[in-house]
Amino acid sequence: MKKTKTFPEQKQNLPGNEHLMYPEPEIMRENYVGSGKLLGKVAFITGGDSGIGRSVAVHFAREGANIAIVYLKEDKDAKDTKALIEKEGRECLLISGDLKDEKFCKNAIKKCHTYFKKINIVVNNAAIQFPQTELEDITATQLHKTFETNIYPYFYITKAALPFLQEGDTIINTSSVTAYRGSEHLADYASTKGAIVSFTRSLSTMLAKRKIRVNGVAPGPIWTPLIVATFDKLSDFGKDNPMERAGQPSEVAPAYVFLACEDSSYISGQFIHINGGEMIGG
Ligand code: NAD
Ligand code: MG
Repeated sequence: MKKTKTFPEQKQNLPGNEHLMYPEPEIMRENYVGSGKLLGKVAFITGGDSGIGRSVAVHFAREGANIAIVYLKEDKDAKDTKALIEKEGRECLLISGDLKDEKFCKNAIKKCHTYFKKINIVVNNAAIQFPQTELEDITATQLHKTFETNIYPYFYITKAALPFLQEGDTIINTSSVTAYRGSEHLADYASTKGAIVSFTRSLSTMLAKRKIRVNGVAPGPIWTPLIVATFDKLSDFGKDNPMERAGQPSEVAPAYVFLACEDSSYISGQFIHINGGEMIGG
């Protein structure tokens, strides 16, 4: 892939990214039927304003959960997501702020707990990426920002949420196919996604005795604002897997429902690979 936008001159996280997208991502397939799998639960989802996080939020709501979503500053996207959740007859708490800040993470969890009186599902999902084809172009500033955004908050949020989580509750982390096969243009991002796999495995073992399950999803190319904001050439996006197409958020979120609910009661420390059929070890 040719070199794309250079850090920090890119559109990532500008308000309203969702509306730069054509066609718009599919949030939920038309015939998705909820069956109360998450009835009465409260889910806390980072990066829930758009893309995969939004789709997860709406699926969880259709399955009966109330939702808190954290986003950086995309107020319009967040309000649209809230409206979709309310259309499902559920409540949505919007929390805007920077996950790089541990104090913010603590407060965000506290806000969610104060509002809903419980937290049952934590979805760590927010991320950024800055494509570079040459290692020498990955500056220390970019490296820090990528790690501070993509992996540190998984620790901050989980630490803050743990006192509220109880037996049967779940944590779901978003990694990427790049964690498993590497990426020639996203070396720093792929490294953070690898760290997320190791974090998930470690945490799942740590929390087994508390009967809290920790799993993850490793998406391949999925049509979201992150892609539109960071890659210049979009026509080939997702074409190099066996299905020869990018996936939709609507094809990813049902895996989060599975991992969040009792259907996956004997599964912990695992990743579901949603990538158009690419063979991945682990
Ligand atoms: P997205 O841009 O729609 O969602 C990411 C969200 O993260 C943003 O909306 C933003 O609000 C939030 N965010 C970023 N930095 C933040 C910060 N400092 N503080 C608070 N919030 C912040 O993109 P997406 O593609 O839906 O990404 C969701 C997850 O899926 C990410 O972890 C990404 O790495 C992963 N993923 C995506 C793809 C893909 O092809 N789209 C592939 C593999 C993995
Ligand atoms: Mg967004």
